[in-house]
Amino acid sequence: MNGAVGFGVFSIDGDEPRVGFRVGQGVLDLAASGFSSELSEPSLNAFLASGRRTWEAVLGRAVELVEGGHDVVPLEDATVHLPFEVADYVDFYSSLEHATNLGRLFRPDSDPLLPNWRHLPIGYHGRAGTVVVSGTPVVRPRGQSKEPDDSAPRFGPSRRLDIELELGFVVGVPSVLGTALPPAAFRDHVFGVVLVNDWSARDIQAWEYQPLGPFLGKSFATSISGWITPLALLEDRFVAPPVQDPEPLPHLRIAGNWALDIELEVELSDTVVSRTNARGLYWTMPQQLAHATSNGASVRTGDLFASGTISGPDTGSEGSLIELTRNGARPIGVGDGSTRTFLEDGDEVVLRGRAGNVELGEVRGTILPARP
Ligand code: MN
Repeated sequence: MNGAVGFGVFSIDGDEPRVGFRVGQGVLDLAASGFSSELSEPSLNAFLASGRRTWEAVLGRAVELVEGGHDVVPLEDATVHLPFEVADYVDFYSSLEHATNLGRLFRPDSDPLLPNWRHLPIGYHGRAGTVVVSGTPVVRPRGQSKEPDDSAPRFGPSRRLDIELELGFVVGVPSVLGTALPPAAFRDHVFGVVLVNDWSARDIQAWEYQPLGPFLGKSFATSISGWITPLALLEDRFVAPPVQDPEPLPHLRIAGNWALDIELEVELSDTVVSRTNARGLYWTMPQQLAHATSNGASVRTGDLFASGTISGPDTGSEGSLIELTRNGARPIGVGDGSTRTFLEDGDEVVLRGRAGNVELGEVRGTILPARP
């Protein structure tokens, strides 16, 4: 198979949304193709909850139908909806390069990595209800901020609106409250991955984030792809993760190839401004899931766990504008000859991912002016 592949929810001409399997520019209507009852609902949640054997059987049959020339709906005729009801949303901070870059910018006078960073995947609980599907416009948030030289905080439209290039995983099978999931349980609970744009208002974030972490600087919108790429289609893209030093505590240890070799890019105003790869993430997805449940917290069908901004070690591989522009000090050029530090009204951002022949569904969003 070539092109973007994944499961999602679509509708035609205002009809009832239904579950579909996208391959390239076509969508197989699963509800109308003789699949089981989990696939007759206007959301993927029932299918996500059905577990690995059903996931594999449905994927196998869907691929067979598409490759056999079964009728598909042209993607351009489809309205793509949020593919699942997002239960809880967690955002991690798992890129060593990103955490180091941000630490330098936010806390210039101290060690960029805090002492806990190499011992656990740092994360925070985000706002599930404002996760939106690719193509949904993003209204510039208003908020409180205070620049270092200001004598008092102000309230108004964010002046440092940013993106975060991330890879998220989607939980299918829930866990039991009070029971931790070991890293090895990952494949029994997680269905697949989506690209995530964790829009971030840096000015709001910088003023609010201590001592309890990100809040309104992040919660106004988070965009995900309309198509979940099943882990089963990424089998040959699992590679060795970076060496972890010091070795994590036993409950976070897992051997094997758990990094995902997915090439990623960020396009801003028709210009690719960053290229990187998810395989460089320090903390792997099974470790993130194990950490999130290590206190006995349960996961639910539809839980979304995002990696944190994915930045590489090289110039031009950073997954956010605050890094690419050194906090606005070094503007970058875009296609029409203008430059950007942070996002301007009307800017369109597209995130893309490629894992060999399989593309991830893109994540697209355009900035609308702040509302009064
Ligand atoms: Mn983030």
